[in-house]
Amino acid sequence: MKVRLDKMLSHLGYGSRKEVKQLLKKKEILVNGVSVKNSGQLIDTEKDQVLLNGDALVYEKYVYYMLHKPKGVISATEDAKHRTVLDLISQQDVRPDLFPVGRLDKDTTGLLLLTNDGALAHELLSPKKKVPKCYLALVEGIVTEEDVALFSQGFEIDGNERVQPSELVIETKDNHQKRTTVSLTIVEGKFHQVKRMFAAVGKKVLTLHRESMGGLILDKELHPGDYRRLTKAELEILK
Ligand code: URA
Repeated sequence: MKVRLDKMLSHLGYGSRKEVKQLLKKKEILVNGVSVKNSGQLIDTEKDQVLLNGDALVYEKYVYYMLHKPKGVISATEDAKHRTVLDLISQQDVRPDLFPVGRLDKDTTGLLLLTNDGALAHELLSPKKKVPKCYLALVEGIVTEEDVALFSQGFEIDGNERVQPSELVIETKDNHQKRTTVSLTIVEGKFHQVKRMFAAVGKKVLTLHRESMGGLILDKELHPGDYRRLTKAELEILK
C-alpha cells in the first residue's frame, strides 16, 4: 500500500498533517536511507524503510482495540458535552479514522471494539449477519419462564417493532429484593434493544454489561476504561 508520509505519521500519532509538516522541518526522516523533507512523499508501506530520528516506523493500515467501556462515556467519536470512548485511547494509539463498532448506552459497561476497519465493522453490525451479542443484566422484577419462552420466539416491542429470537438465561433470582440477574444473547443491535425488550415484559434493566460479540469475549484482566489490541487469534475469530 502507498501512503503519503504526512498521513502515515499522522496515523501513527504524530499529530495533524500541519503538525507533521513542522515535525519534518525539525526532525530527521530517512526513507530508505535518504533524508526527506517533503511531507507529501509517497511511502510504500510494504517495502520502504522509514526512520524517524533513527527509530523504525511500522505502518499498519488497520488497528483493532478491545475496550472495557466504563459507565459515563458515550460511544461516539466526538461530543460537545460528554467524554467519548475515544478519550480513553492514549495519544499514541488514537488515529483520526478510529471509531467504535456499534453503540453501548452511556450507562452500559463492557466489551466495545474500536477499529478503523470499516468493512469489518459493517460485517459485525449488519442485521443480516446475525452476529450474537451477549449481555449480563440486573433486572428489576422477577424474570419468568414465560419471559424466557417469549424471548426465544421473538416478539414485538413498542407495539410495532419485531425483535428476533434471543436466548434469555435466568442466572439468579433475588425474591426478597425482587431482582433477577440474567444473561441475554441477541443477534441484532436495535436502539436500546435490551432495555426495550425487558420494558416490553414490564421489567426495568438496572445495570447492563456486554460480555461478548461474535466470539470475541471481554478480557477479564481489563478494568473499566482499559483497552488493549486484539490478538491475532481474536481477529481471526471475528473475520
Ligand atoms: N441494549 C441496550 O438497551 N443498551 C445497550 O447499551 C446495548 C444493548
